[in-house]
Amino acid sequence: MPIYEYRCPECSIFEAIFPMGAASDLQPCPTCGQTSRRKMSAPNLSKTGSAAFKLIDSAHRSASEPQVLTGALPPGSHRKVQAYTSNPLHSKLPRP
Ligand SMILES: [Zn+2]
Repeated sequence: MPIYEYRCPECSIFEAIFPMGAASDLQPCPTCGQTSRRKMSAPNLSKTGSAAFKLIDSAHRSASEPQVLTGALPPGSHRKVQAYTSNPLHSKLPRP
């Protein structure tokens, strides 16, 4: 059941749980009994299952349990040696 927030003019904000669509606009404050108006608030939607949550979850998991690859790398994934320069004179420079 959803949680509705009410703002008491004397105390503070309090929450009440009602079935969907059954919440009234006015409720008595549980501490002082003053009539309180319902407060509009953002719905507390679940973020589990979203791409951002999965990324955060896998980042946390890999901190303690790094993923280990078993088997060979897929074909075409071998790293090619990258040319640092295109100047042909650099190939004549002494190598360590
Ligand atoms: Zn109150």
